[in-house]
Amino acid sequence: MPMPVRSLPTIQNWDCHTCGDCCRTYVVRVTTEERDRILKQGWMADPALNGAEPITFDKRLGEYALSHTADGTCVFLGPDNLCRIHAKFGEAAKPFACRLYPFALVPHGDHWTVTLRYACPSVTDNLGRPCTAHAADVSAVAKLVEADQPQSANLPAATLQPGQTVPWADADRFTKTFVKLVTDPAHPLERRLRQAAALAAVCRQARFDSVSGGRLNEFLQVVAAAAADEVPADPYSVPKPGWVGRTLFRQQLGVYVRHDHGPHAGAGQRSRWARFAAGWKFALGSGSVPRLHAELPAGVRFAAAEQPLGNLPPAADDLLARYFRVKLESGQFYGPTNHHRGYWDGLASLLLVFPTVMWIARVMVAGGRDHLDAVRWGLRMADDNFGYSKFLAGPRAAWILRTLDTRGEVPRLIAWYGR
Ligand code: SF4
Repeated sequence: MPMPVRSLPTIQNWDCHTCGDCCRTYVVRVTTEERDRILKQGWMADPALNGAEPITFDKRLGEYALSHTADGTCVFLGPDNLCRIHAKFGEAAKPFACRLYPFALVPHGDHWTVTLRYACPSVTDNLGRPCTAHAADVSAVAKLVEADQPQSANLPAATLQPGQTVPWADADRFTKTFVKLVTDPAHPLERRLRQAAALAAVCRQARFDSVSGGRLNEFLQVVAAAAADEVPADPYSVPKPGWVGRTLFRQQLGVYVRHDHGPHAGAGQRSRWARFAAGWKFALGSGSVPRLHAELPAGVRFAAAEQPLGNLPPAADDLLARYFRVKLESGQFYGPTNHHRGYWDGLASLLLVFPTVMWIARVMVAGGRDHLDAVRWGLRMADDNFGYSKFLAGPRAAWILRTLDTRGEVPRLIAWYGR
């Protein structure tokens, strides 16, 4: 019996506006069944493909993927920005990755929840019908995802940290408390995120073996109220991130701004040496910011990203608040959808998306963008990699995250780049 899909984002709109960005930006892996199906569709004889192989083995992925043209575009994307497979054989004939995007499924015990990829411009701009209108389509694809990733289905409990699990209902109690903190309109988002970091720091130290259900709710109520009171209102009163914190954070930034394929590909696609040189500059944090994403402006120096950005326009605040609510409510930030991180490590990595977006936004503003456009691009770049970049999956990334968290750098980075 396949797992049902529950909890599509209720505060977010989306419909495809046929910009073609995803079909140019990603290498789309295909399952064996999809490969056989597409090969049987007779594309080799179709003049639209100019004799191109429809499917090739992608060395970086280590799997079969849809072929792309020299500029990175999927060979099936037509000049009208519409998919040729969809046009000729119907929506269900496409690979499930294409059918699902920009939605993504999050395994949550005996069901799926749904999150969104903010790399899609229609998601960041909140364009289209309410996401709930796509429930039937997402449910249809969920069965295919489950067949492809059976190990994600029916996970028995939620992992808080290594050796500590709780029932899913208790994980939801934590999440409800964090959502309440992060969506409280009484405070600026920057402060709300620091409150969430303070609450997480207390919870990380606690054992919950005998604190469950109603008792957990009471515990969370008390600790969340204390965290809200104790966190300083003024970000300028929070100590500046330390040298270690800033250095490690910049190394993570080098991953978050990186894109190697299609029209947004930056310097990293050129060679291993270019990637090494860029990584070194991010570690040093001096000179001009390497353009690891094509949208990053040329010639902006690292020092520009240390200057306060000031108040954001309300639309940028709304976008960021929507983002954190969707990521929290879906649970994308922990478990298989975030490199199998436990709840607290996953939450720390999600909270760090805020200074990451604000750092990128400062660079973009220094390069001439307006504040809203800069935040939009910051979020598109960061969320493109959040939970997806293999460079955020390894032991080094996990060590950086733990070091930033245990040294108390997460709230400092939020305050410093939220100014
Ligand atoms: S198969 Fe179609 S939807 Fe998928 S990437 Fe190619 S053009 Fe886009």
